[in-house]
Amino acid sequence: MRNALGLMLASVVTAVLITGVWCWTSAPRADAAPPQTVAARKAEPLPAPAAKLAPKDDVDITASLTKPAPAPVPAAQPAKSACANPDALGVSRTVVIDTTGGPGFGFLQYKQFDFLTDKEVVLTFDDGPWPTTPAVLKALSDECTKGVFFPVGKHTTYHPEILRQVAAAGHTVGSHTWSHTHLDSKKLTEQQVREEIEKGFSAVKMALGAAPAPFFRFPALAHTQASRDYLGTRNIAMFSCDVDSNDFKSSSPDQVIQNVMTKLDKQGKGVILMHDLQKHTAIALPTLLRRLKAGGYKVVQMKAKEQLETLPEYDAMLVKDQKVPAVASRPISSVVQTVSQ
Ligand SMILES: [Zn+2]
Repeated sequence: MRNALGLMLASVVTAVLITGVWCWTSAPRADAAPPQTVAARKAEPLPAPAAKLAPKDDVDITASLTKPAPAPVPAAQPAKSACANPDALGVSRTVVIDTTGGPGFGFLQYKQFDFLTDKEVVLTFDDGPWPTTPAVLKALSDECTKGVFFPVGKHTTYHPEILRQVAAAGHTVGSHTWSHTHLDSKKLTEQQVREEIEKGFSAVKMALGAAPAPFFRFPALAHTQASRDYLGTRNIAMFSCDVDSNDFKSSSPDQVIQNVMTKLDKQGKGVILMHDLQKHTAIALPTLLRRLKAGGYKVVQMKAKEQLETLPEYDAMLVKDQKVPAVASRPISSVVQTVSQ
């Protein structure tokens, strides 16, 4: 009896074991295992064709080979390279200017450095910062492109936050004198000319909290030999233009666009002079930038190799100008008291 029971138990255990092993190795496992195996095998041959590609493509291939762990890659991308507009005008190249000795740019006056190739333009904006400037910044940002700004010192004291927006957007910021005085005036002494130049740069530095580019444009492009010589001693580059938009006397945004495109199509390239203070220019800019793109023009960004060291006496002069009376240091409650509400 015991033997019979033992035999029965043994055969039940064996049957359970056989079924269990069959189920484990066959049915459910069959569904899960194959995709993993296929995926693992397919990944292996990838490096072989990569090695056969030309050295020129090595960077791309290396990047794709390192991609199996993609998670940390996006963190390394600098934010400034992001451009949401795939058809943007953009910046085709960036040049760095060594301003030693005060080089001049813009063939209207300074026929020195013909560095632009066919269809290349430099976008420049004078007379800001002004409430019209943010619209100019938006148009440039929408096209992921960059310009050079020549602000007026006094205006930077009115709207320092707007000038900070210009710098934060990655544009180059130079200067356009302290008060937009025409420096060829015979009434000005040498000292006054210096003050217009230096105080203008100091004002930009004060607004930005950082040194400006040693890039200067004469108001009304009115220069003299003496003022050019002075800029040379300060290693400040001077900017004239090749294409004057004449936006300050244009009757409409369309006329600004026509002025620029007509001159540009004739000359084929150049430094374009505009004013971010002009409403017509701010309105015209989105269309103008599209026209540049459609016409095959490419934007070159100009940057300074080194920033300008402003002169301490002019920095101090500005701080003195801005200083409010000492009474302002009194606490508000001791000056203004609510007596009825
Ligand atoms: Zn101006």
